[in-house]
Amino acid sequence: MTNLKPSLYDYTKKELFTLIKPSFRVQQIFGWLYHNYATSYEDMNNIPKSLKEELAQKYIVDPLKIANKELSSDGTIKYLFELQDGKTMESVWLKMKETQLDSNGVVIQEAKYTICVSTQVGCKVGCTFCLTAKGGFTRNLTVGEIVAQVVALKRDNKHKHNRKINIVYMGMGEPLDNLDNLAKAIEIFKEEDGLCIGGKRQTVSTSGLSTKIDKLGEMDLGVHIAISLHAVDDKLRSELIPMNKAHNINSIIEAVKRFPIDTRKRVMFEYLVIKNKNDDIGSAKKLVKLLTDIKAKVNLIYFNPYPGTIYDRPSKDDMLSFQEYLLKHGLLCTIRDSKGIDISAACGQLKEKGKV
Ligand code: SAH
Ligand code: SF4
Repeated sequence: MTNLKPSLYDYTKKELFTLIKPSFRVQQIFGWLYHNYATSYEDMNNIPKSLKEELAQKYIVDPLKIANKELSSDGTIKYLFELQDGKTMESVWLKMKETQLDSNGVVIQEAKYTICVSTQVGCKVGCTFCLTAKGGFTRNLTVGEIVAQVVALKRDNKHKHNRKINIVYMGMGEPLDNLDNLAKAIEIFKEEDGLCIGGKRQTVSTSGLSTKIDKLGEMDLGVHIAISLHAVDDKLRSELIPMNKAHNINSIIEAVKRFPIDTRKRVMFEYLVIKNKNDDIGSAKKLVKLLTDIKAKVNLIYFNPYPGTIYDRPSKDDMLSFQEYLLKHGLLCTIRDSKGIDISAACGQLKEKGKV
């Protein structure tokens, strides 16, 4: 990572105060970055040329370039970014709720969006169902590369800085394997005169590195966690997620119980449903038992097939029966609608397409 020039998006406001003088310029530059979504020093027309030249020697502004973009009919937009060293990673713009109009056509509620952010190029965890895992691990994303994804997607969709947005760390990579950069990016998103995205609006999805779940909890950032559980017994889970051997189901459940959770909220458990692997009622039964002591919510995900995979998508009937069983037994449960199914829905798929 030695050849990466730092970006202005790498720093908290407090750090910028130590790097840039005079200090009133920090306020202006911060505004350029997070209210105007600046991509270059040229954009910053109230900053003296001499200061811009001085900064340009040490820092770039935007570390990301859009290399590809795919639009889905449901409003999902998938972005492929090229980084300074030529590596690529992706982010997704998800439309969660349509704009609501009253009978006169006046907007009563604006559409709601969520941004799916990557934290690594590739991933070390090596899940057997995941396309990102196929390319192995390349490197961690820097703080600026994480932060700039949200800025870039808001910019590209003309989403004003003060409009609310949710972030899910569910793109490429295992967020807890890049915990320091993740934590700093979370803090930068929270900056009140920046994007002001509170911890409650940020969800970290993890394959279950239990010791790191504890560390994240100790940082007390106010974020939500989502656990990619996918299996109810360690044998199958270790087949799907090899590092389950080191962080088994029990250790994850215990770590979740220790995690500081907003009392009004629930911990999300993601359960990837794979045909003839974990889509039977016996598994649903075990899942209910496993989560009895936890304020949990289950999100069932259809396995999204891609060329070369050994797994299949479950039938809709099996999916619905699975959900019905959980609901009947008091477990909140939704089925994730496969947004962007007509583009390249599962993580890592746009990147794969980009390869020639
Ligand atoms: N590494 C983290 C976050 C990124 S993966 C984690 O594993 O939680 C984000 C989600 O995409 C995970 O829940 C993962 O299980 C899911 N996913 C990966 N491959 C998929 C596929 N082929 N079909 C559907 N979901 C998939
Ligand atoms: Fe990594 Fe998540 Fe993919 Fe597993 S599912 S390989 S943890 S990105």
